[in-house]
Amino acid sequence: MSDCLFCKIVAGQIPSTKVYEDETVYAFRDINPMAPVHILVVPKRHISSADEVTAENSADIARIFEVIPRIAKEEGLTNGYRVITNCGADACQSVKHLHFHILGGKQLPDNMG
Ligand code: AMP
Ligand code: ZN
Repeated sequence: MSDCLFCKIVAGQIPSTKVYEDETVYAFRDINPMAPVHILVVPKRHISSADEVTAENSADIARIFEVIPRIAKEEGLTNGYRVITNCGADACQSVKHLHFHILGGKQLPDNMG
């Protein structure tokens, strides 16, 4: 998707602070961190949201969930962390390329407001 912000980040057309990369997964630091550790993990190929996950692309998502604990360990999140994906308007999804937030490094609030 040529007009997608995270596709451009994956392609290196927009700079990012890379945390992890393999054939199908890219992870980088959120530009507006909500916690001491705030990382976004995305599939390299464009999937608009969690609502677009199918049997055809779910291997990329499974891979993301293999990578998340590795990143958490490297970031020192030994006391826990939160993984969030916002899907659609009610969830305030602002970038329409599926991404998983990893949040940690402090005690996170126990309600979503
Ligand atoms: P969401 O609201 O779930 O769609 O999250 C989008 C996230 O992308 C927000 O936390 C933003 O701070 C983050 N973001 C937007 N632009 C960039 C960028 N250029 N580099 C890194 N993170 C970004
Ligand atoms: Zn995209």
